[in-house]
Amino acid sequence: GHLPEDTTVRELVQAAYDRHRHVADGVVATYIPQLADADPAACAASVASVTGSAFEVGDAGVRFSIQSVSKPFVLALVVEALGADRARNLLGANATGLPFDSVMAVEVHDHRTMNPMVNAGAIAATSLAPEVADLRGGDAGAASAWDVVLAGLSAFAGRRLAVDDDVYACESGTNLRNRGIAHLLHSYGRVHCDPDVATDLYTRQCSVSVDVHDLAVMAATLADGGVNPMTGERVVSDRTCAHVLAVMATAGLYELSGDWLWEVGLPGKSGVSGAVVTVAPGKGGLAVWSPPLDDAGNSVRGQLITRSLSHVLGLNVFASA
Ligand code: GLN
Repeated sequence: GHLPEDTTVRELVQAAYDRHRHVADGVVATYIPQLADADPAACAASVASVTGSAFEVGDAGVRFSIQSVSKPFVLALVVEALGADRARNLLGANATGLPFDSVMAVEVHDHRTMNPMVNAGAIAATSLAPEVADLRGGDAGAASAWDVVLAGLSAFAGRRLAVDDDVYACESGTNLRNRGIAHLLHSYGRVHCDPDVATDLYTRQCSVSVDVHDLAVMAATLADGGVNPMTGERVVSDRTCAHVLAVMATAGLYELSGDWLWEVGLPGKSGVSGAVVTVAPGKGGLAVWSPPLDDAGNSVRGQLITRSLSHVLGLNVFASA
């Protein structure tokens, strides 16, 4: 079945938000000024249903950089273009159990596959964007790799997204570790374009500016089998969505993904700006944004609000009733 009627969902989202918005745990990321300057009290939540309704509570007008929440959506574009088998063989699908920026994530599995929800696997996924652009170039002309990524993220959101140039500049000045990961991957043949180009594309995708409504619609598009419920556009296939949700479940909240599944029972993805998106397959997408993070880099209030909503809306995919 679908979500309850709109007025009921709205009341439940407001209640979950009111209950957790003042929780004071967690710390805001500080590695770039745009994140360090975020208001630790800020909090917003949005739900978008597969039937096309959406609403927001809290500081929903604030934009922030998408960061790691971009990972499942870029992966979806790559899986769609290259095919599920090839994408899995190149990128991996198993849990790493390691922090998002782990260099060891590259070393844990045979053949140096990773999981595309952590940086190593995400950089490998983004390194395939030039190939995706080439494949599309046949009928669409000279689309660049970056055009493919930005147009794809925009199709998920249902509006033309843009990079925050200040975030991109600062991220580019602090991404030596990601460049190192890309070069390590390159040494194993696991990066599929120039490793610095791959890191730059990845850094740009992390710098795309969104609000909590955009993220709820993006999540709802995965919930709706790849059709954006607001625009009606098919972005990717339903099979692609199912694969993406599987890797979100295994590593979407990094080394705490097991705790997340235990509590919430849904595929989710967090990012260092304080966003968490959650997908209730066939029902809708949920996004929460609140900057203070736990030790793994997951929004504290984002997890609490999502957990409450999963309970009251009965969304846990492992629950029988
Ligand atoms: N730009 C950040 C990085 O790659 C994003 C990480 C994150 O959101 N966890 O280091």
